[in-house]
Amino acid sequence: MPADHPRQSEFSFRVTTRLSGASKASDDGVPALGRTGTITTPHGEIQTPAFIAVGTKATVKAVLPESVRALGAQAVLANAYHLYLQPGPEILDEAGGLGRFMNWPGPTFTDSGGFQVMSLGSGFKKVIEMSVAAGSDHAGKDDAVAPGKERLAHIDEDGVWFTSHLNGDRHRFSPEISMNVQHRIGADIMFAFDELTTLQNSRGYQEESLERTRRWAERCVAEHFRLTDERAGKPYQALFGVIQGAQYEDLRRKACRDLASMPFDGFGIGGALEKENLGTIVGWCSEELPEDKPRHLLGISEPDDIFAAIEAGADTFDCVSPTRVARNSAFYTAEGRFNLSGAKYRRDWGPLQDGCDCYTCQNYSRAYIRHLYKAKELLSHTLISIHNERFVVRMVDDVRHAIEDGTFWEFKAETLGRYYARSRSAV
Ligand SMILES: [Zn+2]
Repeated sequence: MPADHPRQSEFSFRVTTRLSGASKASDDGVPALGRTGTITTPHGEIQTPAFIAVGTKATVKAVLPESVRALGAQAVLANAYHLYLQPGPEILDEAGGLGRFMNWPGPTFTDSGGFQVMSLGSGFKKVIEMSVAAGSDHAGKDDAVAPGKERLAHIDEDGVWFTSHLNGDRHRFSPEISMNVQHRIGADIMFAFDELTTLQNSRGYQEESLERTRRWAERCVAEHFRLTDERAGKPYQALFGVIQGAQYEDLRRKACRDLASMPFDGFGIGGALEKENLGTIVGWCSEELPEDKPRHLLGISEPDDIFAAIEAGADTFDCVSPTRVARNSAFYTAEGRFNLSGAKYRRDWGPLQDGCDCYTCQNYSRAYIRHLYKAKELLSHTLISIHNERFVVRMVDDVRHAIEDGTFWEFKAETLGRYYARSRSAV
């Protein structure tokens, strides 16, 4: 394995405050591993823990980049698979990189595309993979394909053949190709190309896959350093290794030790996570991974997941939910998530949430936004997305301040108690 690259000093992470009061940690006795810190990239700093807004195709859906900034998001995460297919990484390279292309001056991330290549390709949706428990009737089916879908991704030692979900064209992704694509997209933080497994895969397959992901990680680092030298005039792009291992403690810990021995700038915790095990699995990883490198949790959704992840040591995480649910007229409040389509909002002249400081709540009523949604006007997506993104950004900012002030446990109990006091069925 190559030693560190001299340009890695252009990216850094510094821990500021550690979460105290581990004795008050969650019911399962997992010690508190959370912390606050600062990630420094060539396009600015990220104060952690931080929520990273998802802009899959170089846009946070329906929200102007200026609004994303104004609502306090610190960084945006786009997807290498989608941008590779459309418009093509050469277009982003020519534009001067992802940030310049989409007029976002701050830090950017790209997901490697591994998840999309394999999940869109084989027809699995994340919801299926996350909801089918190991040991159920569906467990152990390594070649299972979701009903009604044909298998469109084929994995071999060198990489993956997959079929575009856009037009059926056949494409090849490998660790080297993913690094080339991500370098041309030009995000500040990239992820190594890994194999996605699901909770349905057998233990034997998980072991085999984890070894392949380790070999792919070494190839990603080598190609990343080669491209860093070749593209010497470009801002330094940091590379995070991705920890797989599904729900198995020994495999997760082994993956962490393997990848921690390689010169990655940080780590992503990926793969199949059941909601109830999320904090536990992130905790295993945090215990194994080096303290001085940031940890990103790939793809979570709900407020309780956010608290569990931060408490277990995740520094950043991304989440499509705020904009995805907004397009179905769902909005977050301190009292839970509600749906604007209800008739009771027809003459509701109040904001989405009383006291919210977002642009939408400062200017528009529930009645107006409900009307837009019912009339199928696209502005409803924009206005609700701004509020929902602001809600999550503000909550994570408040968590950060609570860790710094030593009030995390009280803040968590109060926030989650209030958010889940009404049933989830209110959604
Ligand atoms: Zn608001």
